[in-house]
Amino acid sequence: MSATHSDLASMIGNTPLIRLRGPSEATGCEILGKAEFLNPGQSVKDRAALYIIRDAVDRGALKPGGTIVEGTAGNTGIGLALVGASLGFKSVIVIPETQSQEKKDMLRLAGAQLVEVPAVPYKNPNNYVKYSQRLADELAKTEPNGAIWANQFDNVANRQAHIEMTGPEIWDQTDGKVDGFVSAVGTGGTLAGVGMALQPKGVTIALADPGGSAIHSFYTTGEFKAEGNSITEGIGQGRETANLKGFKPDRSYSIPDDEALPIVFDLLEHEGLVLGGSSGINVAGAMRLARDLGPGKTIVTILCDYGTRYQSKLFNPAFLREKSLPVPAWLEGEGRSVP
Ligand code: PMP
Repeated sequence: MSATHSDLASMIGNTPLIRLRGPSEATGCEILGKAEFLNPGQSVKDRAALYIIRDAVDRGALKPGGTIVEGTAGNTGIGLALVGASLGFKSVIVIPETQSQEKKDMLRLAGAQLVEVPAVPYKNPNNYVKYSQRLADELAKTEPNGAIWANQFDNVANRQAHIEMTGPEIWDQTDGKVDGFVSAVGTGGTLAGVGMALQPKGVTIALADPGGSAIHSFYTTGEFKAEGNSITEGIGQGRETANLKGFKPDRSYSIPDDEALPIVFDLLEHEGLVLGGSSGINVAGAMRLARDLGPGKTIVTILCDYGTRYQSKLFNPAFLREKSLPVPAWLEGEGRSVP
């Protein structure tokens, strides 16, 4: 077999699992992180982008030279733009203006045309998701090669990527010894997809939900109620997306930022892992599940993306202080933060 990849798409997935030493030692379990930041677009969302594009091509909806339109917090857009570039498609990305500058810069670099809109709730017609749907409809009429709306929240090609790739990869990489899997929800593709692949094999599936999200309340009380807030990006949800439908996790944890962010800082300081905030929510959730299941278990979670994508916020002492979040001494003391 040749070791050469024929294109970018074939480099997506098959990410390694890494043992997280601190969280494992603290819980007596093996806590393993799936290193999704090693995908070509540096996030777990490359998988969804690949499956959404492939599905649209297979259905005949996306034609050569066509345009992919999406509303995204950033990572899906980066995946769509890069996979799109490698296959000859253009991309237009609608992003809430509150998202990090690093992600916006990366999107432009990846060749996406960026449309920034105010961050307003889903029920508002100018919400980035709804705005992107309208824009796709308009472009479909004017673009010579047509346009599609990727619709990552309700397009189940998204979770199919995790049913077919991520779930089976985790099973094979642990030789079927995985006891638990934990993930936050943005679209729900990762949680429901891996859950649908591994729950029937007896793996306990748990949600880790940030402040400001209503999914934990939905799974525990049946009602959508959001409490608190979070500086993490790309996760949190206020409705049951099509990707979540037909799936229910076995456990659910609500994780505050002051529990998740110290884990991100510890993993950077002691284990050399530069991660984004959602990875901290996930690892905190994995530690909660480890404590609930008891010692000796193997728990897998997702290391969603690379931390440089959030350097101006997550690793910025002034920003953290403004949000009343803990600032690790080394972040200020050793010239490691952005000036
Ligand atoms: N972490 C980050 C950083 C993300 O961008 C996303 C997706 N928006 C997620 C986690 C959640 O993944 P999913 O959409 O599969 O629920």
